[in-house]
Amino acid sequence: MSQPKILLLGPPGAGKGTQSKNIAETYDVDHVTTGDALRANKDMETEHGTPRSFMEAGELVPDPVVNEIVQAALEDADGFVLDGYPRNLSQAEYLDDITDLDLVALLDVDHGELVDRLTGRRVCSECGANYHVEFSPPEEEGVCDECGGELIQRDDDNEETVKERLNVFDENTQPVIDYYDDEGELVRIDGEGTPDEVWADLQAAIEDAV
Ligand SMILES: [Zn+2]
Repeated sequence: MSQPKILLLGPPGAGKGTQSKNIAETYDVDHVTTGDALRANKDMETEHGTPRSFMEAGELVPDPVVNEIVQAALEDADGFVLDGYPRNLSQAEYLDDITDLDLVALLDVDHGELVDRLTGRRVCSECGANYHVEFSPPEEEGVCDECGGELIQRDDDNEETVKERLNVFDENTQPVIDYYDDEGELVRIDGEGTPDEVWADLQAAIEDAV
């Protein structure tokens, strides 16, 4: 049997990174993200130029270039979990043309919960260790358990930016979710449990699908 091909969808903070890692380790497949694929193929020639030409100009890499890069990454992989792509409907239609997915899973988490998760994140300014004010607090507030460094909130994680990121997700990626839903392909996973609970549900969905 060939290795599973899985698309994992979900808003920022839903746990896609953690669950993608579980899938990659358990099923021995590649974890493919747009960011990693672009970094690994900066100089790949596409019809529209190299990713590097856009990245160095500080511009968003356009869809046709992203599409070609992701296609190359998927063709190289013996099974994969795809995370962070497709981000919009046109990318989803492209993906449909280049591969057959075994499972499209959505990690479903309420917006209020996502705001709590993301705005509560703290990172050590010295060693980079991660904390959460509610879910994994340090022993002493604002101080890193590992090295005593000061814990800070990344700019990305302040409430205003978080809400903006969620709005962008809704606007661009909700049509992708609706697209798979309409095709009857979408499997919703309750993403509000502990990472282990979510993984148990996700793994059951994978076993069902392959
Ligand atoms: Zn530290």
